Amino acid sequence: MSEAKATVLLQHYLKQLKLPSFLREYEKLAAVCQQERDDYQTYLLRLAEVELADRERRAAERRVKAARFPVLKTLDTFDFKAQPALNQELVRQLLRGEYMDQRENVLLIGNSGTGKTHLATALAFAACQQGRSVRFFSATSLVTQLLEKRQDRELERFQKQLERLELLVLDELGYVPFSKAGAELLFDVIGRAYERTSLIVTTNLPFEEWTEIMGSERLTGALLDRLTHRVHILEANGPSYRLAEAKRRLKAPAGKAKAGG
Ligand code: ADP
Ligand code: MG
Repeated sequence: MSEAKATVLLQHYLKQLKLPSFLREYEKLAAVCQQERDDYQTYLLRLAEVELADRERRAAERRVKAARFPVLKTLDTFDFKAQPALNQELVRQLLRGEYMDQRENVLLIGNSGTGKTHLATALAFAACQQGRSVRFFSATSLVTQLLEKRQDRELERFQKQLERLELLVLDELGYVPFSKAGAELLFDVIGRAYERTSLIVTTNLPFEEWTEIMGSERLTGALLDRLTHRVHILEANGPSYRLAEAKRRLKAPAGKAKAGG
């Protein structure tokens, strides 16, 4: 077989087999392996490794997209010094993701601007990287969507989608009170998640005030019971980072703001 024909066939087969990284790398890697005097098996192994790594990276990107984070945040940009009372060790442990194997939940409590959404996003982002299916919602938007889906008779399908998740983030529970129907639908989601899907919930509300949001003592009790059955609690009770940032910016003369100050 002529070399040109072999090349055309190989490229065709690699496309059919859906091995884009093989296709992209096989020539370059052949040259490298020749230079390093690697045997055929090593060459094949290295190609397979490239394909696998690319495939995992693409899958993680898809999971991040499907999770619909409002803003992408990771732990690299989180300043623990700004939140000294926060249990850093627990954050780092949770980042490894074992809590999801145990279907445990995470509750982030603290005032506005203390980094709860940032941390919840960082944990959920790490879960995406670990191959977990994740979805991020603000609690209010989830309730709105549940009510809409019910109206459109698509509630069941939506609930099934949520049930298939390994991690569900409910951000900012407690900022807006729910209607009775909304609270019941939300409770239903949390009930279905029980021992199936891990939840990360962020809230600015102490437990005593949850009744006001859910509207019913009975519902609140049941909800807290489900949520806190197996839960890791992170408390950020330091000053608002947003506020501190704004103050820093105000103090710094315009155009002369220094980084890190
Ligand atoms: P919360 O959800 O508790 O109201 P956010 O997570 O939305 O607070 O934080 C507000 C802003 O401040 C975000 O841009 C976030 O990235 C940033 N931020 C908060 N805490 C920290 C921190 N400790 N280190 C770095 N950035 C922070
Ligand atoms: Mg928030």
